[in-house]
Amino acid sequence: MASDRLALIIGASRGIGYATALRLAQDGFDVAATCRGDTARLDGLRAQVEALGRTFLPVSLDVTDRAESIRVITELFADKPPFAVVYNAGISRDDLFAWMTSAEWDDVIRTGLDGFYNCVQPLVQPLISAKKGRIIVISSASGQVGRPGQVNYSAAKAGLIGAVKALAGELGRRNILVNAVAPGVIDTEMTRDLDMTKILPLIPLGRKGAPEEVASVVSFLAGPYSEYITGQVIGVNGGLVC
Ligand code: NDP
Repeated sequence: MASDRLALIIGASRGIGYATALRLAQDGFDVAATCRGDTARLDGLRAQVEALGRTFLPVSLDVTDRAESIRVITELFADKPPFAVVYNAGISRDDLFAWMTSAEWDDVIRTGLDGFYNCVQPLVQPLISAKKGRIIVISSASGQVGRPGQVNYSAAKAGLIGAVKALAGELGRRNILVNAVAPGVIDTEMTRDLDMTKILPLIPLGRKGAPEEVASVVSFLAGPYSEYITGQVIGVNGGLVC
């Protein structure tokens, strides 16, 4: 697999990650995609990517398992890192902080923030050796402004923004760009049960976003027209956060 045109999408089984993998394939990338458990879950994505004439590498990975994540990522990519790395894995476990359980806190932080370390840190030295690369992190509007009922999620997503800005500073001179995309309310399983009657009035564009609308921004950040952009947070939120 040609690493120069390889994109690794961490958390690609559905939603934004799936749309991103497909969009990157449409834009000429070979794709390595992760899911938890059986990689047969990625067969539909594989078929679409391969139909575009791109290669597809399915990877089984639970980002909360530090030892396993580091082992898998290192085995596959230490010698040939992907050009573009998209850290998309994330979960929400909403609750008022007064009632938030330690499991709700830990699960969200471990997936959203610790997983970034587990999966992306092992790629940094290989990327430095390659002297090029893009790291793109899916944060959230909740991480930009903080959302009541999502103290855990806002903390994880704000933590990613801090990490992106610091890492952009470390890697800029190495020709590696590091940016975050911060979606608002996107139409995926994660938002399926939200009561939109209360949320829609807060969104100037008056609708949920589509996963493909996030994917196109990720593709821009992975592509040739964003070479002077690093350390930034790009909102895809219909005006929810200005
Ligand atoms: P989905 O719930 O549809 O998808 C989440 C993805 O993360 C799945 O591919 C899932 O894989 C993966 N994932 C979750 N936990 C783990 C884990 N422990 N190890 C590996 N992969 C894991 O959500 P979305 O597509 O909506 O969200 C994608 C990202 O965008 C998330 O980071 C989310 O926080 C963020 N986001 C979403 C917004 C929205 O409105 N939808 C708004 C702002 C940000 P699996 O199938 O194995 O569970």
